[in-house]
Amino acid sequence: MNLKFIDLSLQQNRIRNELDAAIERVLNHGQYIMGPEVEKFENDLKIFTGVSNALTCANGTDALTLVLMAWGIGPGDAVFIPSFTYIASAETSAQLGATPFFVDVLEDSFNIDPDSFQKGIDDAVKAGLNPAVVIPVDLFGLPADVNTIKKITRKHDIKILVDAAQSFGATYHGSRVGTLGDATTTSFFPAKPLGCYGDGGAVFTNDDDLADIVDSIRLHGKGNQKYDNLRIGINSRLDTLQAAILIEKLKIFPEELELRENVSSSYQSKLGSFIKTPQVSKGIKSSWAQYTLILENRDEVKKFLDESNIPSVIYYPKAISQQSGYSNFPSVSSGLKISEDLSKKVLSLPMYPYLKEKNIEYICETLKSYYD
Ligand SMILES: *Cc1c(COP(=O)(O)O)cnc(C)c1O
Repeated sequence: MNLKFIDLSLQQNRIRNELDAAIERVLNHGQYIMGPEVEKFENDLKIFTGVSNALTCANGTDALTLVLMAWGIGPGDAVFIPSFTYIASAETSAQLGATPFFVDVLEDSFNIDPDSFQKGIDDAVKAGLNPAVVIPVDLFGLPADVNTIKKITRKHDIKILVDAAQSFGATYHGSRVGTLGDATTTSFFPAKPLGCYGDGGAVFTNDDDLADIVDSIRLHGKGNQKYDNLRIGINSRLDTLQAAILIEKLKIFPEELELRENVSSSYQSKLGSFIKTPQVSKGIKSSWAQYTLILENRDEVKKFLDESNIPSVIYYPKAISQQSGYSNFPSVSSGLKISEDLSKKVLSLPMYPYLKEKNIEYICETLKSYYD
């Protein structure tokens, strides 16, 4: 058995002809930068998410940067970030001279803990910082509890930037991810739920003014006249070729989300009685970027799986606050216990839409044999 952690080839086999034709169309028209496929894909994204503005860019990290730049975030501003996430969530605010401020997560969802966030605001104010932005991250595909976060931000002037790099396609009480914060970002890195064949990302917002500024910043701060730039910008565009590929992949994406749901249900039914499996609250649908377990003897279980040729990955072995480059940034006074604890216990299993039931059975039987 040659089991992969993520197998992208099965999806490619399915739509290879469509992909070849889409790539050939771009080679024929030759508009490699901001070609017609980019606009078409942005329209498709708007229809899919129900958001009024979808702006593509070079990657999911730039998407965060674009929004923070558009909001004018910089020195003196605190940007609240769950400590248990991928580094990009924290990197962008630090780059702009703002202060990433780490708060804890909830064990049940892996997502930002609203009480810890509230405490972090008080701490930041005491430290002389301006609480400016919170970045709830939809970790492993599960939307963060934005309604509870909103109850806190409403009392302050704090903007919500949802990092949905892992949760594109998920839904939260009837709304698609993309429509939930003041702005939302995602990534089309190949291994994300909707991935291209290179780097790509997008910003979503219902705020038309914000969208105009992001559109300008992603093109060097352009104004209406090409050589009169209005502001400092960056160069962050989605390649036309990647847009052409994503148009084809988005067509089968709704079905793939269902297939991911089936994989997670199958894992749940086979593992739920003896392992702490991921829980999804009522009214929420995950996009299942990862299927992540919490295990007391994680490293031993991982070794056991390795020996049975079952790939597994630790997302993430260190909380961000524990990483050398970030240890000087402030964190909430109540501590980051859950983030630090999770980094010792989490283990993600193979997850992709085309994972076969017989492979799921093998993975679950192997895990069961460890515990028997
Ligand atoms: C992947 C990821 C990003 C960054 O996306 P890139 O496209 O790789 O820049 C940001 N945040 C989270 C949580 C991610 O998983």
